[in-house]
Amino acid sequence: MIDSHCHLTDPRLRSQLADVLARAASHGVTRMITIGTDLDDAREAIALCKVLPNVRCAVGVHPNHTQNVELSDLPLLREIQADPAVLALGEMGLDYFHHFAPREKQFAVFEFQLQLATELGRPVVIHSREATDDTLAVMKKFPAVRAVFHCFTGTREEARKILDAGYLMGFTGPVTFKKSDELREVVRLMPQDRLLVETDAPYLTPEPMRKQKTNEPAFVRYVAEEVGRIKGWTLEQTDAITTANAERFFGLKK
Ligand SMILES: [Zn+2]
Repeated sequence: MIDSHCHLTDPRLRSQLADVLARAASHGVTRMITIGTDLDDAREAIALCKVLPNVRCAVGVHPNHTQNVELSDLPLLREIQADPAVLALGEMGLDYFHHFAPREKQFAVFEFQLQLATELGRPVVIHSREATDDTLAVMKKFPAVRAVFHCFTGTREEARKILDAGYLMGFTGPVTFKKSDELREVVRLMPQDRLLVETDAPYLTPEPMRKQKTNEPAFVRYVAEEVGRIKGWTLEQTDAITTANAERFFGLKK
């Protein structure tokens, strides 16, 4: 099984990485895509991939980190993308829930990265929080870019718009939460070939492990179990389907 979105460079996971990887393996989670959220984190993610062949990365500037980058530094992303450990650009996007960066800065950094993705033919990982319409409007200007809306937790209408635009969607711990009936309805409606499972660890621990504050890649198994329960798939089928989707989207080797 693949955890298609985690943050292994976060100190909460980094500080116990050998154990985290061992527990992942014992849950059948053998591959991970770790996400770098700014230029420094990108370098750390790549360094990790060098020593861990089953870990690959996506790197970009997260909307909630855009206040820490200068627009003049963004061309460095082009060199960083050239590293063979890097499979995608992101996460990138718009976040109207947190207010870490002004919207104008978020837009500028997002558009720069979509332009770069267009030039490099790279898939992108989208972080969109309370900003679906604006995110889709920006992306419309870059029609060649393939994207996954990671950690989807929105409404059925928002899901419909994302699917109509041709993008994939990633599901995380919240699909297991008691109150998430609408999100489970979205999963039920998802076309099989557009669905990824992920943890977003160290955030969003799924049930039944929610008491453990720090989420970890092993727990993508619980997300996959819930997705399978909703879809009427066995865990093996869910694994095969979501793994094939991740391999195709990220250009991961089998
Ligand atoms: Zn993330």
